[in-house]
Amino acid sequence: MFERLTRRLGGLFKRLSGRGKLSEQNIKEALREVRVALLEADVNLRVVKRFLKGVKEDALGAEVLESLTPGQHFIGVVQRRLRVLLERSDARLNLPRPALVMLVGLQGGGKTTTAAKLARRFGAAGRSCLLVATDTRRPAAREQLVKLADLIKTAVYPREPFVEGPTATALAGKRLAEAQGHELTIVDTAGRLQLDEELMAELVEQKRALRPQGVWLVVDAMTGQEALNVAEAFHERLELDGVIVSKLDGDARGGCILSIAGGLGLPVRFVGTGERPDDLDVFRPDGLSRRILGLSDVIGLAEKARRVYDEEQAKKLEQKLLKGGFDLNDFAEQLRGIAQMGDMSEIIGMVPGMRSLAAGADEDQLQRELRRSEAVIGSMTPKERRYPNIIDGSRRRRIARGSGVTVARVNQLLNQYRQMAKAFSGLSGKKGRRKLKSLGLDPRNLGGELPPGL
Ligand code: GDP
Repeated sequence: MFERLTRRLGGLFKRLSGRGKLSEQNIKEALREVRVALLEADVNLRVVKRFLKGVKEDALGAEVLESLTPGQHFIGVVQRRLRVLLERSDARLNLPRPALVMLVGLQGGGKTTTAAKLARRFGAAGRSCLLVATDTRRPAAREQLVKLADLIKTAVYPREPFVEGPTATALAGKRLAEAQGHELTIVDTAGRLQLDEELMAELVEQKRALRPQGVWLVVDAMTGQEALNVAEAFHERLELDGVIVSKLDGDARGGCILSIAGGLGLPVRFVGTGERPDDLDVFRPDGLSRRILGLSDVIGLAEKARRVYDEEQAKKLEQKLLKGGFDLNDFAEQLRGIAQMGDMSEIIGMVPGMRSLAAGADEDQLQRELRRSEAVIGSMTPKERRYPNIIDGSRRRRIARGSGVTVARVNQLLNQYRQMAKAFSGLSGKKGRRKLKSLGLDPRNLGGELPPGL
C-alpha cells in the first residue's frame, strides 16, 4: 500500500533536499508534484486541495530554521501535514467487555468476511465472540456467515433460516450473547449494491435498538475516491465510530485511507489484506506515515517520549540515543515508561522488536506482557543488566525460573532489547549524525526542541 506515493514523494524529497535555495517557482513545482502524487494514489480531490493549501501556508509562513536548507524545510512541512492527516485516523480501540459492534456497508464490500476476521482476531486475544447475521433479504449472506463461523470455530446466530426481521434477529442475538456470556457480539448487517434510503432507515432503527459500542463501516479499497462518498452517507445517518478498509491487497495506492482520514476524520481501525480469516491487520497510521515519509521508528519513539515523559527522562533517553551504551536497565526503564504512557498498542508498534507483540493484542494483554518483561529483568543480577552479553544458557534458565516464565520468553525479551539497542546505536557517532541530518533533524537540537515537523 502506498508504494507509488512513497516512491514519488521520496524522489521529490531527494531532489529537494539537495537544493540550497527554494524560489517561489520551485515551491510551485514541488506542490504540483505532491498534488500529482496524491491524485495518482486516488486520494479524493477535495482532500488533496485542502492538504495542499495547508502545505503552502506552512511552507511560506514559517521561518526556516538555520540548520535546515529550504528544501529540507519544505519536506518537513509536507511530512508534518501528512502526519496530521493520518493521525486524524488514529484512535485507540478500547472496546469494553462485553461489547456489541455493528458492521455496516455496501453489499460486496467485505462485511461478512470482515465479521469473521474480527471474531478470529478478538477470539485469539481471549474474547469469546458471537457472530450475528441480520441480512434477512439475502439468505445466502447468513449461510456464508455460518460457514465462516464454523471454519473459525466461533458461535453464530441464527444457525437456522431467519424467522424474524433484522432488528428482532439482532436483538435476539444480543440476548443470546448475554445468556452465553460472549464478550463480543459482531452484527453483520444487511447491505445493498448502492446507497439506499430504506436500508439506512433499517440500520438507524437497528442501532437505536441495539445500542452498540461501535458502528464500523466496511469499505472496499478498490472503490478509491467513491469510498469517501459512501462513508459520508453512512456517517451522516449512523454516526460511525470507525472504518475498516477491505481488499487493500488489491490496491497498491491506498488513497481510500487518506480520503477517509482527511475527508471525515474517522479512524481507520483495521485493514483487510486477503480473503482468509487471518487477513486482517490493525491499521497503524503512525507507522504508516513514517514509512511514507521515510522516518525511522526510533525518532518517532523519542518524540513520543518527549510528549509523555518528564523533561529529565526524555533528555536521558536522547543522550543514550546519541551516545549508545543502552543496557537492560535502560530497556526496563523504557518498558516502565511505555506502561505509563497508556495508549500502548500505538507506542509498542513503534518500538523496534516489539511490533509483533502489539499486533492483535488488547491493552490488558499488553500490560500483562510488559509486567512479565519487567519481572524477567527483575530476576537478573545487576551485572547481567549492565552487560547483557554475559547472559548465557544457564543464566537464561535461572532467570526463567526466577521470574516464572519459559526460557523462550527470556530469549524473546533479550531479542527485543537487542533490537532496540541496535536501533539506538544506529544513531550514535558520525554516521548517526548524518542519518539524523538526512531526516531533517539537527543532532545539536536533540535535548532541546526538535525542528518543526519532526
Ligand atoms: P459483504 O457483501 O459486504 O458481506 O462482502 P463479503 O464479505 O461477502 O465479501 C465480498 C467478496 O470480497 C468476497 O469474495 C470476499 O472473499 C472478498 N473479500 C473480502 N475482504 C477481502 C480482502 O481483504 N481482500 C480480498 N482480496 N478479498 C476480500
